[in-house]
Amino acid sequence: MRVTILGSGSQGNATLFEAPDGTRVLVDAGLSLRQIRGRYLKARGRELDSVDALVLTHAHGDHVAHAARVAKGLDATVHVSRSTERQVDLANVRVERLDPRSTIRIHGMRLHFSPIPHDDPQVAVVAEDDGGDQVGLVTDLGRVPRSLEKHLRGCRTLLLESNHEPELLATAEYPRFVRDRIASPHGHLSNAEAARLIRRLARHRLERVMLMHLSQKANSPQRARARALDALKGEDVEVRVAHQDRVQMYDQPRGIQLGLAF
Ligand SMILES: [Zn+2]
Ligand SMILES: [Zn+2]
Repeated sequence: MRVTILGSGSQGNATLFEAPDGTRVLVDAGLSLRQIRGRYLKARGRELDSVDALVLTHAHGDHVAHAARVAKGLDATVHVSRSTERQVDLANVRVERLDPRSTIRIHGMRLHFSPIPHDDPQVAVVAEDDGGDQVGLVTDLGRVPRSLEKHLRGCRTLLLESNHEPELLATAEYPRFVRDRIASPHGHLSNAEAARLIRRLARHRLERVMLMHLSQKANSPQRARARALDALKGEDVEVRVAHQDRVQMYDQPRGIQLGLAF
C-alpha cells in the first residue's frame, strides 16, 4: 500500500491510499481539488487524474468542504453514510451508501469501516491491499471504544488522531463551549488517549504511527510525539507527526518518507 497524507488538521483533511494494482481511494475532501492535485504532483512527481472512490468519514467541513468538486474533478464515486449524505451537497455526483459497520471491495483494495464516537456520525477506516498490508485511518473521535482496538489489530501502519494536551486546551484561545466540545467523549482524542491505544496495538502488528489532526492551539508536534514514545517504553514502533500544510508519504515496504512542506 502507498499512502499520501495530503494535509491533516482542522483546516482540511485528505489522505490517498493506492494499492499495488493501481486502485486509488481518497479519504475526505477538506482540501480543494487544486490543493489535492498540486500537493500530490509535488510529492509524487506525477499527476493525480482520477481516483476510484472518495470516502467521506463524516460531515464536518474540514473533511467535506470540497467533496462535490473533488469527486467531479477526479471522476470518483462518493461513498457516504446516510447521515453524511443528508448534510453534504452531492448534486450530480455518483453516490454509494456506506454502512458504518461493513467491508467493501474496490478492485484491489478492501475498506473495513467501524463507527467511532464524535459529534457527527463518524467512521474509522482500515484500507487493506491484496498482499494483506493494512493501514488504519482514525481521526475525529472523543474516546476509544472497545471495538476500535479489535478493528485495528491487523494494522502495521496507523494514522491516528492525537488532537490535544488537556493542560494546553484548558487555557487555549477557544470559546468555552468549543473547549468543552473538544474534550468531551464526542470530541477529539487527547495525546494520552492516543498514546494508550498505540501502546496496546504495539502488542499486535503495529510498526509505525502517524499522529494526525493536531490542534494548532492546544498541542505541539513535540508534545504529541513525546507522549506516544513515553507510552511505547522502547517498543520498536516508529512515530511521526502529520501537519496541516505538509505532505507525508508511506510506501510499503520502504516505510515513511520525509514530509514535504507547502
Ligand atoms: Zn476534523
Ligand atoms: Zn469532525
